[in-house]
Amino acid sequence: MPDLKSINPANSDVVGVYPQLTDKEINEIIIDVENEFNSWRKTPVQERCQFFKYLSEAIQMRKNEFANLMALEMGKPISQGTAEIEKCALVCDYYADNGEKFLANQNINTEASESYVSFQPLGVILAVMPWNFPFWQVFRFAAPAMIAGNVVVLKHASNVQGCADAIEGLFIEVGIPNNTFRNLTIDSSKVNYVIENPLIKAVSLTGSKFAGKSVAKKAGSLLKKTVLELGGSDPYVVLKDADLDIAVDSCISGRLLNSGQSCIAAKRFIVDNNIQSEFEKKIIEKIKNQKVGDPFLEDSSVGPLVNKESRDELVAQIEKSINEGAKLIYESEVPDNENGFYHPITVLSNVKPGMPAFDEELFGPVACIISAKNQSDALSLANATSYGLGAAVFTSNYEKGKEIAELELESGVGFVNDFVRSDPRLPFGGVKESGYGNELSSYGILEFVNIKTVYIR
Ligand code: NAP
Repeated sequence: MPDLKSINPANSDVVGVYPQLTDKEINEIIIDVENEFNSWRKTPVQERCQFFKYLSEAIQMRKNEFANLMALEMGKPISQGTAEIEKCALVCDYYADNGEKFLANQNINTEASESYVSFQPLGVILAVMPWNFPFWQVFRFAAPAMIAGNVVVLKHASNVQGCADAIEGLFIEVGIPNNTFRNLTIDSSKVNYVIENPLIKAVSLTGSKFAGKSVAKKAGSLLKKTVLELGGSDPYVVLKDADLDIAVDSCISGRLLNSGQSCIAAKRFIVDNNIQSEFEKKIIEKIKNQKVGDPFLEDSSVGPLVNKESRDELVAQIEKSINEGAKLIYESEVPDNENGFYHPITVLSNVKPGMPAFDEELFGPVACIISAKNQSDALSLANATSYGLGAAVFTSNYEKGKEIAELELESGVGFVNDFVRSDPRLPFGGVKESGYGNELSSYGILEFVNIKTVYIR
């Protein structure tokens, strides 16, 4: 098997080479993790929580180091990297503080002398994770799954094995028993082999819908549970009574986070045509304050894209959309560095269904403006996608915003007058081709447990 390589997207330098595990080594690791399961599941939940308190402290102490590592391996601007690490600490603290309560037995009155629900771990869970939030995605899954008593093997994206190693190292550093969390240095061609291992009880995948479908098919054929957090094409509906400054700021924050490479990026701005020209003027004015640049420089808000293939794909999607009638109304400067995979911040107007900019997930700093005749046209355009992850609506009418977010938008997450983001206290997950299952909150911790009925006559 070829070695896995980390390539700095700002200059194409190889920054890490990681030999892949053999089948024998994969199997040995899975056996080691399974062997740890019996004692980890019996470790009192308070102790499991305490380990995540230690992890929260340990990760925060090294946040600059980890932000540098992300910048190096996948191009995330440093300030966004430190924010990601802080969020990892938050999710560890959240589950450490609430895990015991979420997992407490629930008594149910029946004619039995005692009947209750108990939440039991499943065993070894495979986590298949993406490169775009290389620390956050792993902690978002691992904190609840492990506090619930499960043990984990991680198959991280091939290009961020340095982050994967660092995460495994953190678990060791805080003294969590060896083999409760192990990294498997393998590429995606080995995922089916791992799923086939009878010791693997379930799979959590965050990634593209293509990967999600493949994993669901294999796991489904073996009747193993999956949770899938997949891509999105989040609509931001801007109604004519919206506060345009709030809408524009939220659209920009939602679109440019992680250089536009986020599942919940604001991928389609659907704007009432009465306010469209003012919206476009304001978007361009404000985007001019954003800078595409070296992720290590403090003033870069947008870094390079993750690799050449990703940039080529984005360029092709934009070109095809323009050929089909989209208008290029703004393009920013990029650093003069032919070895970096930079892409300008781009604003497209006149985007319509049938164009890649409408139908596909554009993974980069490209704002797509779609004109709507009125509110009902805007909502049908918003829902005219195979995805259903996040969505937002902008209106000065509180009740209308609430009703649209709750009842009209086909998404797992609906925001009003703000950009979509996850919060450990709130469930996060998609519908349609954005996947199924939930992460975060009390719902997330119950995904990988056996919700067991105990009945005593
Ligand atoms: P990706 O290509 O699907 O990769 C994600 C993970 O799946 C990687 O570990 C990858 O391994 C593995 N993988 C790829 N193809 C696979 C297959 N056929 N079978 C099994 N595993 C496979 O996605 P990405 O490019 O890393 O990440 C971007 C995508 O993730 C976007 O669509 C984004 O919207 C989505 N995402 C969703 C969420 C969410 O919470 N809903 C969060 C972040 C990202 P290799 O690296 O070895 O190929």
